[in-house]
Amino acid sequence: MKKNALLACVLSGLAACWCATAKAQEVYWTSSGMFGPYNIQVSIPGYPDARDILVTVSMFIIKHPKGVVVFDTGNNVAISDGKCKDYWLARSCDFLKPTQKPADVIDRQLEKIGLYVDDVKVVVTSHSHMDHVGNIAMFSKAVHVFQKKELYQGWWPEKFQGRETPGTFVLSDLSAARNYNFYEIKGDYDLFGDSSVIIISTPGHTLGHQSLNVKLATGNTVIMTQDALAMQENADGYVARLNYSVKDWTASASKLKFMRDLEGARLLFSQDHKQFEAGGNQWLK
Ligand SMILES: [Zn+2]
Repeated sequence: MKKNALLACVLSGLAACWCATAKAQEVYWTSSGMFGPYNIQVSIPGYPDARDILVTVSMFIIKHPKGVVVFDTGNNVAISDGKCKDYWLARSCDFLKPTQKPADVIDRQLEKIGLYVDDVKVVVTSHSHMDHVGNIAMFSKAVHVFQKKELYQGWWPEKFQGRETPGTFVLSDLSAARNYNFYEIKGDYDLFGDSSVIIISTPGHTLGHQSLNVKLATGNTVIMTQDALAMQENADGYVARLNYSVKDWTASASKLKFMRDLEGARLLFSQDHKQFEAGGNQWLK
């Protein structure tokens, strides 16, 4: 009897240990600088309250027992320190007014928490806009996870989304990494097979946009929506301007909000400066 009790205890201990490992994720939320100020109605034409906003360029670093993951690599390093027009379209620079300094770039952000680019096992890219895919070329040793469709989108965007390059899509961000190891997926994907880091297909903003659902060591769940829901106002029902498909955007927004409600998860918006000021530049809890 005693022996059985001991065995049960050991087994439950092992189970607890496994659960703790499966959920032992740490997420650091950082930024490749800011954009703005500009009028929120440029991003959300139907928003009733015209006001200037600052926009965060969100990136995430995730520590998992099986390896380090970076979710989005921000603006290309070449635009740092006011050199925007050397690499991006002049009118993008004039409108966005990026603040990025070398210390804001993903390689330096990793160093701030004791990591280097070659420590990164997986780079997940939400979509191929220039403020999300900018520095994938830094990660030559990583597996790069994209929705297959998004690579098509990145190489040959719809004309109405801007086909000139550099534009919203900067082809050299992708072409510099053309021979890297790309894992081209279709739909949702459980990255390490333990349900702790799940890629969520959220098309609409672009053809193959994807978000990330991560179970934290604290037991909380965060969903990094990136541009599927760029700010709180989008989650409140105001449709973003820049969309491949409004129908798909709406379905993806609904999917993320149901996930939030059913899992008790927190949505982290890509551009919401107010939210970033409160919770960014730190490990999430
Ligand atoms: Zn975008």
